[in-house]
Amino acid sequence: MNDLIIIGGGPAGVAASVYAARKRLQTTLIAEEIGGQSTVSEGIENWIGTPKIHGAELAKLFKTHLNAVKGDIVTLALGERVTALAKTEGGFTATTKAGKEYHARAVLIASGAGRRKLDVPGANKFENKGVTYCASCDGPLFSGQDVAVIGGGNAGFETALQLLAYAKSVTLIHRHKEFKADAVTILKARAHANMRIIAHAEPTEVMGDAFVTGLKYLDKETDEVHELSVSGIFVEAGVLPNTDFVANLLTLDAIKRIKANARNQRTSVDGVWAAGDCTDELYHQNNIAAGDGVKALEDIYLWVKKR
Ligand SMILES: Cc1cc2nc3c(=O)[nH]c(=O)nc-3n(C[C@H](O)[C@H](O)[C@H](O)COP(=O)(O)OP(=O)(O)OC[C@H]3O[C@@H](n4cnc5c(N)ncnc54)[C@H](O)[C@@H]3O)c2cc1C
Repeated sequence: MNDLIIIGGGPAGVAASVYAARKRLQTTLIAEEIGGQSTVSEGIENWIGTPKIHGAELAKLFKTHLNAVKGDIVTLALGERVTALAKTEGGFTATTKAGKEYHARAVLIASGAGRRKLDVPGANKFENKGVTYCASCDGPLFSGQDVAVIGGGNAGFETALQLLAYAKSVTLIHRHKEFKADAVTILKARAHANMRIIAHAEPTEVMGDAFVTGLKYLDKETDEVHELSVSGIFVEAGVLPNTDFVANLLTLDAIKRIKANARNQRTSVDGVWAAGDCTDELYHQNNIAAGDGVKALEDIYLWVKKR
């Protein structure tokens, strides 16, 4: 039986795999692909040690690093999707969509998350061409421009506050009359002269040619459709963690993220760790996911060696 199964090929899973190889833990890395969510990014400017890198190039470097260290210690099972994880004799069994089974004494879940997408005409077409799901990644690209934020929770308002540092104006659109964000965060945003807040309104269409040029929204008070002239649309409509396959095994929080101990990434089940965006970690960034993966691996190594 293997020592470890790692599920996920984003920064959390890859960082953990590199450490597993170096610590000589017999490991299978199961992932649909190597790279993770930011593979689609035009320019990542905060991956430490690289002032700017295309997401696809970063994914390539992840593969290069894995191939350089894996030897016969880490086996890659790529193009595979885990559909179930269960406690079995002596450890755990991960079953994939193709019906393959992998067994190990310990498991690290690094299956990440997807952003809840903006579901209106034009949103898909202009994704990464003005429609974006990551303010700390793409915010600086919209310096001096008019932008919109979709979402009235803390993430929406915090995104707006970040953008106010560079954007010419920020318009936040929220579907309900009441905001979910903390009052103090709303007050901070309202204090900016170039901040506009539109409540009880829904986006209806993203407009553009090569790049976003505007956003149509429905004012639910008046039933009128208006047009905003913006070049960036930041969507903060929530995240969807990839955790369905562990829903019956681990304790999840109210929004289906795996509850993990931030000191060592342990979950509610002995022998299972979780790292990165699939956990109840507060912040979602590549460096943080990689760090969580490393932290988990340090703990897994000691756990495996004690048995
Ligand atoms: C468009 C975009 C741009 C971004 N830009 C930046 C940036 O510039 N800087 C920054 O720090 N952060 C950025 N982020 C955030 C960053 O990408 C995430 O915080 C980070 O990728 C989380 O890493 P992770 O390893 O936890 O999960 P993910 O990157 O989500 O990786 C999850 C992995 O698990 C695999 N997987 C999922 N489910 C299964 C399953 N059931 N079976 C097998 N494999 C599975 C996926 O295929 C993937 O390989 C960006 C996010 C987006 C969406």
